[in-house]
Parts: sequence; C-alpha cells; structure tokens
Amino acid sequence: ACKGGVVQKNYSKQAVSEEAEVEDVMIEKKIKIGFSMDTLEEERWLRDRWMFLDAVEELGARVEIMEANGDEALQISQAETLINEGVDVLVVVPYNAEAAASIVQKAHSAGIKVISYDRLIKNSEIDLYISFDNERVGELQAEALTKLVPKGKYVYIGGADTDNNAHLFKKGVFNILQPLINRGDITVVYDQWTKDWLPANAFLNMEEALKANNNDIDAVIAANDATAEEVIKALEVQGLAGKIPVAGQDAELAAAQRIVEGTQTMTVYKPIQTLTMEAAKAAVRLAKGEKIETDTKISNGKIEVPSILLSPISVDKANIDETIIVDGFHLREEVYRNV
Ligand code: BGC
Repeated sequence: ACKGGVVQKNYSKQAVSEEAEVEDVMIEKKIKIGFSMDTLEEERWLRDRWMFLDAVEELGARVEIMEANGDEALQISQAETLINEGVDVLVVVPYNAEAAASIVQKAHSAGIKVISYDRLIKNSEIDLYISFDNERVGELQAEALTKLVPKGKYVYIGGADTDNNAHLFKKGVFNILQPLINRGDITVVYDQWTKDWLPANAFLNMEEALKANNNDIDAVIAANDATAEEVIKALEVQGLAGKIPVAGQDAELAAAQRIVEGTQTMTVYKPIQTLTMEAAKAAVRLAKGEKIETDTKISNGKIEVPSILLSPISVDKANIDETIIVDGFHLREEVYRNV
C-alpha cells in the first residue's frame, strides 16, 4: 500500500490489536534483572544505581531495583520478592557478607543465578563476583600516606566489619604498613571498624583516637570518603584539619573538593561506569544461559568464585585533573568551586 512513496499504515482494528500482541510478547520476553542494593547512603551508590539501570536497558533488558537502607532482614525479604517475581538473574550488593548467603540459596532453588556486586557474598555458591581490586584500594591509600609520612603514628578508621570489602581494604593498608611497623618506623596507635559504615560512628572513633593520643598523631587512613569527612571534622575541632594527612576512598565530590582545598590528601577513584557495564553484560549473558569464564578466581570460604576485578586509581591534588575530571566523573568547576 504505497502511494507516491508514502507508506500507508493499516489502522484497521484487527491490525492494531495484532501489533499490540506482538509488543506484549516482546515485553514478556525481555530479560529482567533484579538488583538488590544495601544502601544509597554514599554518593557512589546513586551512581551505581542509575548507571546499572542505563547499562541494562542499553542491552535491551530491564531491571527492578530494591534498596534495603542498611537493614539485613529487609534486604533478604526484598531479594525474596525479586525471586518470587521471577527475575532472570539477581545482582546483589550485600549488607552482610555472611547473611546474604541465604539469598543465594533461595535464588538457586528457584533456578536464578546470582552475581555478587562490589561486595563479596561469603560461604555460598555465587555464580560471579564483580568488583574492584579492593585490597589494592588499601594499598594505594597506605602508599600515598607513607610517602608523605614515612615515620610516625598512624590511625586507621576502618569500614563495617560486616562488609567483606572492609576486611580487604584493611588488609591492603597493612600490606604496606607492616614492614614499616616491623622496622619501628610506624606505629598504629588506633585501629577500629566503623559500625555499619555510619559516618557518626567514624566521628566518635576519631574523637577517641585523638583523645587517647593527646592529639599526637601523624596520619589517618579512613576506609572511605564518608568516614574521612568525619575524621576531618574531628580534626577541625582540634584545629588540626589540613595539618594531618588523611586518606579516603570513592572520589566523592566533597572529597575531591577537600583535596583541592587541602584538608584531605588523597582518595581512591573507582570508575563506577565500567563496573556497571561489566555487571550488566554479565547479568544478561547469565540470563541467556551462557557461561562466563574468568581468569581470576576468589575463594569466598565455600567455592572458588569466578571473579572480575577492576583497577582502582589513586587520586591526589597533582593528578585530579587527569583522572576524575578528564573522565567526567565530576565537573572541574564543581571540584574547584571553593578555591
Ligand atoms: C564500597 C565502598 C563504599 C562502602 C560504604 C564498600 O563496600 O566498596 O565504595 O564506600 O562500601 O558503602
């Protein structure tokens, strides 16, 4: 039905309803990924959320996202909802590395594969783990600070001990510090987890560290930028902000601003876009029943988990422009807003 090059569309009732049916089938067939997140507390998780959504949709699949607000029981029940809804693959950022194993069991009983995203789920048969090299994150922090402060008193403000990453960050830090400790150059005068990664707890810990040492400390390594922010607030109360080097992680905007202002020494930048793209690709492949081979395998206490580990990048005042700004992670004018 072509008149003078114009395609005539068939608007008959039957044609329209047939078209609608075809669309229905297409929607039904779309792969559906469930994304169970622990928290949106730190800035990075908002980025993970929308970038993962974009990446999945770009691949022609769809995603349902649930966020548990740091509540272990809520995360498990939300994951059950996604499993019951029949998602094709479940992607999980566990609040609690051990407790989340029950999610994996339930998903597998329903024939649903599970990807452990950013944080490892322990003691379970997860199908894939996608993250950054988290031990390297801690090493980068300690390398940067020991270059500036090769001798002295160090404080370590760790992450949540329920998060496997917190253990890896700490391990990395001590990979670098231990030889210097053995040599007698460095002493760690305070070392504490931050319960639930809550900034308020980091502030209290830092206050305690300062008090216990009569403010006589030389460097602070904080597990992420949110805890580094509290460390710097506690230093500020003592008039020490900008005088004692502080390391963080995540390349949050506020941390980037503190770096150019001089109250934070460094952060660790993890390109979230690469993580979300890799995770989305893997999720869609697993949903199609494809196997994913990886060179790296990591033990989670039960199995050797096929793993994809991306590289973190150390960021300080000297390379901030050629890292997070060049990548478009933050806008230059935002980073330098206060200087
Ligand atoms: C992530 C960090 C984040 C922290 C707190 C860790 O598992 O790797 O990027 O800052 O959790 O949410």
